[in-house]
Amino acid sequence: MNKSTFHQLSYGVYVISTWDKGRATGCTANSAMQITSEPATVAISINHDNYTNQCIRESGRFAISILGEKSDPGIIGVFGFKSGRDHNKFDEVDMLEKSYMPVVADACAYIVCEVADKMETSTHTVFLGKVVDADILKTDDAMTYAYYHNVIKGKSPKNAPTYIAEENPAAEGARYVCGVCGYIYDGEASFDELPDTYTCPVCRQPKSVFTRK
Ligand code: FE
Repeated sequence: MNKSTFHQLSYGVYVISTWDKGRATGCTANSAMQITSEPATVAISINHDNYTNQCIRESGRFAISILGEKSDPGIIGVFGFKSGRDHNKFDEVDMLEKSYMPVVADACAYIVCEVADKMETSTHTVFLGKVVDADILKTDDAMTYAYYHNVIKGKSPKNAPTYIAEENPAAEGARYVCGVCGYIYDGEASFDELPDTYTCPVCRQPKSVFTRK
């Protein structure tokens, strides 16, 4: 099986959020799809290991924040490469409350759902959501997964449905690779000329986690 075939499916970049007993939490996801329009129903796929999975089961509700091309790519890192078990992710990312659910303020649109059903796979839960609210937050093009890969040069977190183990080794010709999220620095300036305060644009980890390849 050629797993790169799956990159030919279209995906977006989303933050799936919910409440953890009154504390907002969430994770980055790229699998969300509309199932029906009347009644409005969507589906998301969340890894069993993601803390958000357990929180959605308990709260029975989730929100999808649709990231745009102008959204801060650091949001992807905060929600994708840290666990909500021990991080208050929304401390680092501005939040709005929409229909009583936490939503990423810098997203271009959001959808709030009640869990209508769920299906287990070997690694992920597919949550079917009845849409209770949805709106556009700002004029922007939704970020596609291709844009994330090609323009932001981000990688898939290990728990993402689109994660492919083979993609983690640094791309050929890469010079500096983030050890946390796999972001490849290939900017104009020599990496050594960057200030020591440089942080990974995807996961916000310091320059020291980068290694030369
Ligand atoms: Fe990184």
